[in-house]
Parts: sequence; C-alpha cells; structure tokens
Amino acid sequence: MARTAVLGLPRMGPDRELKFALESYWAGRIAEPELQETAAALRAASWRRAASAGIDVIPADHSLYDHVLDVAMALDAIPERFGGPGAGGLDVRFAMARGGPGARPLEMTKWFDTNYHYLVPELADGQRFRARPDHWVAQIDQARALGVAVRPVLLGPYSFVRLAKGLRRPLDALAALTPVYAELLAALADAGASEVQIDEPCLALDVADEERDAAAAAVAALAGVAPVCLTTYFAQPDAETVRRLAEAGVAELHLDLVRGPGALEPALAALADGGTRVSLGVLDGRNVWAADLDRALAPIDAAVAAVGDDRVTIATSCSLMHVPWEAARERAIPPEVRDWLAFAAERMDELATLARAVAAPDGRDALLEPSRARCAARRASPRANDPGVRARAAAVGVADHDRPATLERRRAVQRARLRLPELPTTTIGSFPQTDEIRAARRDLRAGRLDPARYEAFLRERVAEVVAAQEELGLDVLVHGEPERGDMVEYFGAQMGGFAFSDHGWVQSYGSRCVKPPILYGDVSRPAPMTVDWWRFAQSLTARPVKGMLTGPVTILQWSFVRDDQPRAETCRQIALAVQDEARDLEAAGAAVIQVDEAALREGLPLRAAEQDDYLRWAVDCFRLTTAPLRPETQVHTHMCYSEFNGIMEHVARLDADVVSIEASRSAMEVLDAFAEVDHPGDVGPGVYDIHSPRVPSRDEIEALLERAEARIGRDRLWVNPDCGLKTRRWEEAREALAGMVAAAARRRTAARA
Ligand code: GLN
Ligand code: ZN
Repeated sequence: MARTAVLGLPRMGPDRELKFALESYWAGRIAEPELQETAAALRAASWRRAASAGIDVIPADHSLYDHVLDVAMALDAIPERFGGPGAGGLDVRFAMARGGPGARPLEMTKWFDTNYHYLVPELADGQRFRARPDHWVAQIDQARALGVAVRPVLLGPYSFVRLAKGLRRPLDALAALTPVYAELLAALADAGASEVQIDEPCLALDVADEERDAAAAAVAALAGVAPVCLTTYFAQPDAETVRRLAEAGVAELHLDLVRGPGALEPALAALADGGTRVSLGVLDGRNVWAADLDRALAPIDAAVAAVGDDRVTIATSCSLMHVPWEAARERAIPPEVRDWLAFAAERMDELATLARAVAAPDGRDALLEPSRARCAARRASPRANDPGVRARAAAVGVADHDRPATLERRRAVQRARLRLPELPTTTIGSFPQTDEIRAARRDLRAGRLDPARYEAFLRERVAEVVAAQEELGLDVLVHGEPERGDMVEYFGAQMGGFAFSDHGWVQSYGSRCVKPPILYGDVSRPAPMTVDWWRFAQSLTARPVKGMLTGPVTILQWSFVRDDQPRAETCRQIALAVQDEARDLEAAGAAVIQVDEAALREGLPLRAAEQDDYLRWAVDCFRLTTAPLRPETQVHTHMCYSEFNGIMEHVARLDADVVSIEASRSAMEVLDAFAEVDHPGDVGPGVYDIHSPRVPSRDEIEALLERAEARIGRDRLWVNPDCGLKTRRWEEAREALAGMVAAAARRRTAARA
C-alpha cells in the first residue's frame, strides 16, 4: 500500500499560540516550564491532527525559533560569544537567535526563495563538532507517550555547510560533520525512530561535480546508520544528482514534483531495482490552492507502475510550515473562493484522498468528484475571470513598456520642472508608525473608531510629517504612509482579485508571522487608491511630494499567488492596475512618483538557468507600470538590499529616473556594481541604517556621501536613508534626518573633487 507523508507542519499553532508564548517568555511574563508546556501541547495537537487525517509519516520538526539553529546546536556549533561548545539551554538558544548581553545574534537570511528567514550558522575551518541529539529525542519520547510514531527531521550536512558562513572549504567541514551526523542518527534510532528525514534542499540547486560527490558520499554514510528518507525540495535537482541519491542506499528518496516534475523520470529509472522507496511531493507545501487531484495522481500512477505501491509515498512537496493551518475556518474570504483553498489541514485530507484513490482504483471517480467539481468551478468562475482585464493584458505590446523619451531627455525636463539643489535630500516613504497609529488602526478594525474620525486622525499625522520635513529642510517630501499597515495588504485590499484571511499567518522568522494576501483572480483597480492622500499632503507644502506606490513584482512576491496561470501573466495584470494609479497621480499633479520594488531580487529563481527569464518579465512589469508617464514626471524606485551582483543590467533596464538602495552597511561598496554597468539614472544610496535605533553622526554621513560622490558623481547623487522609517521612533528619525540634511548641505559647499 502506498503511504502518506508530511515533510513538516506549521509551527506557530492555529492561533499563533507559540508566538505569544515566546514573546511572553522574552518579556519575562512566563517562565520556561510554561513556554515548554505550550510548545509540547502544540506539538501534540499537530501530531494528533495529522494522525487523524490519515497521515502515515508524521514529522518531528518542532522548533522554538528556527530549524537551522536547532541543528547548529545539535552539532555543538555554538560560537564563543554565546559560551562556545558545550553551552546550552533555552537562553543560549535565544541569545544566538536574538542577541544576548553584549553578543550580537547570528545573521539572519532568507530560506531559499521563501519568506521564511533562518539563522546563519557561524563555522570555522577545522571546527570540531559533537552530537547533541536531545532536541529530537525529547520529541520522540513525547510522541511515544501519545501513541504516535514520528519521523525526526534534520537539515542534512551538505545543506548545513552550504548555508553556513565562515568556511573557506565547506567540503572539508562536510567530511568532519558526517560522523557527527551519524552519531545523531544512531541516537535517534536508539530513541526509537524507525526512520529519519534528512533534508538536503541545497542538492536541488546548481551543484558542482565535486560537491555532488561529497554530498552523495555523506548521504551513503548516513544511510548505513539508520533508515534515511533523503529529501530535496524547492527546485528540480539535476538528473545526475537524482541518480546518485537513488543509489546511495537510502530507505526513501523524496522529490518536490511541484517545483521539479522532471525529476520523476530519472528517479524511477534509477529506483527500478532495489528496495528504495520514492516519496512523491505532489501537493504544494508553498501555496494555498486546493489541488487538482487528477493531476496529482498521474505521477503517482507512474511510480506505482514502475516500483509497486508498497514503495511509493504520497507527500507534500516540502514542509507545510509555509502555509497556514486551516482554510475552512476563514470567514472573511468569500465562501466561493474559500472553497478553492487548501491550507495545511486541507492538504492532509488531500493526501489521504490520494492514498485511497491509489488503493481502490475502482472507486476513483466517486473519490475525486469533489476535487473535479471544485477545479471546474474555479476555472469558470466570474470571480476569477475578468474579460476586460484579460483583454487589456493581452493587448500589451512591446512598445507599451517604454517611456516616451530617453532618460537624458527626461532628466533635462525634470530638472527644469523640479529645480532641486545638487544632492537632493528625500526619504523612502514611511515615517514612524507610532503606538498611537497602530492603536487607531486596531480601534477602527474593532469598530471602536468610526471611519471619519480615523481619517481625520490620519490627516493630522500626514500634516505632522509634512511639517517635520519642511522644518528639517528636506527637498522632496513624502506623506509618511500612516494609512498603510502592510504595504502589500494596503494595495491588495483596494484591488479586485485579492482576498484576505483572518488566521492565515505563516512564520517569517522567530515569533514573527506574516499574513499574505491571497491573489485568486484577475487583478483590477476599480478606483484611485492613494491619490487623496497625496493631494492632501501636497496641499500643505510648496515642495514636491512623492506619490508612493508598491510595485507589481513586490505585490506578487508577498502574496499567495493563483496557480492557474503563469506568474508573469498575473504580474502583468498587477502592473496594469498600478499603472492606472500612477497615471491618476500624475493627472492630479504629482511631479515625482516612487514605485517600490523591495522584493524584485528575492523573486529570483533558485536555479541559474531560470533567472534571466524571470528578470526579463519582472523588469518588463515594472516598466509597464511607469511607461505612460510623461517625460517631466520623475519616476523613483526603491529596493531595500545591497546585493546587486549579477542583476545590475536588469536594474538599469528598469529605466527609473532615480533608484534608491540600501548602502550604509556596505559603506557604499554596493555602488561599485552601479559603476560597472552603464546605469545612466540617478542613484540614492542609503546613507544610514534604519534598522538600528543608533543615530549616525553628521560626519559619518558626510564621509559616506563623499565615498558615494567618488563612485557615482555628485551630479547623479541623491541623499536618503536606507529604507522607510516606520520602525523608528520620532526622536531617532528626526535627529538622523537632521544630520543627513546637514551633511548634504556641507557636501554641496565642499570643493568639487
Ligand atoms: N515606501 C516604503 C516605506 O518607506 C518602502 C518599504 C520597503 O522598501 N520595504 O516603508
Ligand atoms: Zn526598503
């Protein structure tokens, strides 16, 4: 019989119970036993839920903060500043995650192309490791007491060294780590685990031959210790990698067939003889749409025919930690749309249905009937299909991506219109989101504050922001974005095609969760979204106020996106909707419009071969958004990172008049990338880090500006912070901006180099 497996479960609890327990613990309101009890109760509930849904293989993948951190601790890879090898306990764990007295935390970075962030292990060449398996042993013991068998989940040694920092020779560390992993596995087997899941997502990326050899050897060594289910996910591993893993002696090989359907064929060919199981990741762990079960069955049937049903596992593509718990309880989503959704609970039901369909082929039609009806209804629904939007998107031609004049020509007319000083100063958009603002938003949502009052309150905030900027002497002003909680939600809520859940939280990092909008249908913009705010702000000042929009790629990237058409197509629809808004801002008189693309880079596909295609359509969508704007309208864009290696030519192709980027932490080094490629537009490299409460001195900012001038030239340089100021307090923002304006003024009068 084919069995069912889930690679990982949501960790936070259906109502973010773990988040609240963690934050209470950190605030000193509860002690460790209470935190551990909450975590244990959540595990028990998740395991029971999976078992009663009919899942055969249930993961022991609990984590109080991050699963990469858990492995680092289990390998005793504890940096000296947290006590070094042998240190342990909850407070060491949290110090590594969040910083401790005098010790900065481990760096955090994005987990592949998800919106989850992991902690980057800090290793050194020659480092010694030691096996500390208690993290999983405790879970195995707990599960046994509950009468549930669980499969411990560990990030594997190859991915661990590849994701870590500090190693000049990661493969040497891999050799040193493998015996320690073997000890961990032996301990888990002793504790009663009948198999262990070893995740090697990095093997689905681009791997060099010697890396593949080393990783395969490590896998083979571990497979000799305990039954291993070796997984890759998020991308399609090379056929050669699949073959080598299939021959490594593992008990089971798991493939993500949602992201990499082409891996099935080489896997089945390599697995034809022998006893290795194949685990088919046919149901998407990264997205929220109810599956087309007929489509999911095709690879399962092929695998059953090739290796027999007792060697087939039907699985989620990856962990379910990237989706919320349960769609059925959502009340704000229109019932018709809700019916198209599958969160973790519904995914498990789908797995069970698939297993039944494999076991009893005769009963298939009856089993699959609800899925078929759902898919057909979704395809035909007027809610998802807007002929006007489709026709407009289909009519977009090549020339529709181009602004009417060259950048040089635009620069001349914009300068004549705006009359800005050299080194113009501006900010990225948001001003401090104070407790007062958050409270007002909460009160509005709870019905305690009526909309007219809320609006009046926000207008006061905008007036405050405009007055502050005038007082500080900034050149291009913003309205401060007090009306926006989350920038993608703000726009999504005003566009057709988006739905919003009440409980659809997913972990972003630690206790932080995000609730992505659900983009289910054709996207339109029925009415202006930002024009009134802009108009009000502009009415208060003679200086130009920037219109402030979120770009199409960022809206796409931070939403759960419909899976029934290519992402590029959906992005184009969003671009046209945002274009409508940009045009309305221009018509209202905005001379400067900023379109933020904070997430352009994070949408980059994991495999190099797919990156160019993505960058082409992503940049096209940005261009489409701003193309019809008149030459005298200045287009800004903002990207909050400083990693432009390899994508610079695409950034130049955005054809924005001004690009602002994060630059202060790299001390302007990022500008070298701008010098390498012909990037004719103006650049605003951030001159101070808005992530930190530290207020930089005027001299510090001036020194950075001088470096920037040397790289970009004074004539094309703007002066701004790294990103928006929403997380800062007013005092910090005011002081830092005053320093920034003063530094710019001093540079203006400094002798030209
Ligand atoms: N305009 C937005 C802000 O200032 C940009 C945010 C971002 O880049 N993430 O907050
Ligand atoms: Zn930013």
